[in-house]
Amino acid sequence: MEDEENYTRLRHRMVKNQIANRQIKDQRVLQAMREVPRHLFVDPEYRHLAYSDGPLPIGLNQTISQPYIVALMSELLELQGHEKVLEIGCGSGYQAAVLAHLAGEVHTIERHPALARHAARLLVDLGLANVHVHMGDGSLGLPEHTPYDGIIVTAGAPNAPRPLLGQLNPGGRLVIPVGGRSGQFLERWRRIAAQDDESSDFFSQFNQEMITPVAFVPLIGEHGWPE
Ligand code: SAM
Repeated sequence: MEDEENYTRLRHRMVKNQIANRQIKDQRVLQAMREVPRHLFVDPEYRHLAYSDGPLPIGLNQTISQPYIVALMSELLELQGHEKVLEIGCGSGYQAAVLAHLAGEVHTIERHPALARHAARLLVDLGLANVHVHMGDGSLGLPEHTPYDGIIVTAGAPNAPRPLLGQLNPGGRLVIPVGGRSGQFLERWRRIAAQDDESSDFFSQFNQEMITPVAFVPLIGEHGWPE
């Protein structure tokens, strides 16, 4: 109980110092970050660092992202509460838990079955019934639940995968790190019109913004990097 109060205090301090102070303005994002217990998403050996200002290992050479980056990517999705969102790279499930507070329905996909199983169990334990965990290659998107109002990719891609762009609703946003295997630029793509995927001017339906440099583990898959 004392521990929980301590974690709550640390979490509120994290939101103030690392997130609100860095110009994250969306009050719903700030509130979601105050509510999701990040310490439960990290391995017990790193729990004392759960509210520090950086990524942490989650096993299988993967990481839980820095809290500020989770907040920034969430804000860039511009969610009001009713949306259907897809996350590529479930990892620990932390970003999905934050999205569960911001959107109506969240689908998250992970290529490592052990991570997906662990995250799914934790999300159920936390009572986040609007999150659905899938296993597989998320570089192909998740066609069975299209279209999405927002897609967030939490691994670095060589470019914005066409299947993901094609699964966006008109007006929908894709937030994705694009670049090399170890360093990328965060991009936001917005679908401003709807044409079918075969259209020759497919990319002209999107507006692309460059946000900030980031460093994510690689997106491995058919529309990502080779293993
Ligand atoms: N969002 C996660 C969290 O909150 O803990 C952090 C994600 S971690 C930086 C990137 C994740 O993307 C890893 O778990 C990795 O296995 C996963 N990944 C990489 N390529 C993928 C793919 N093609 N499909 C699904 N997941 C993928």
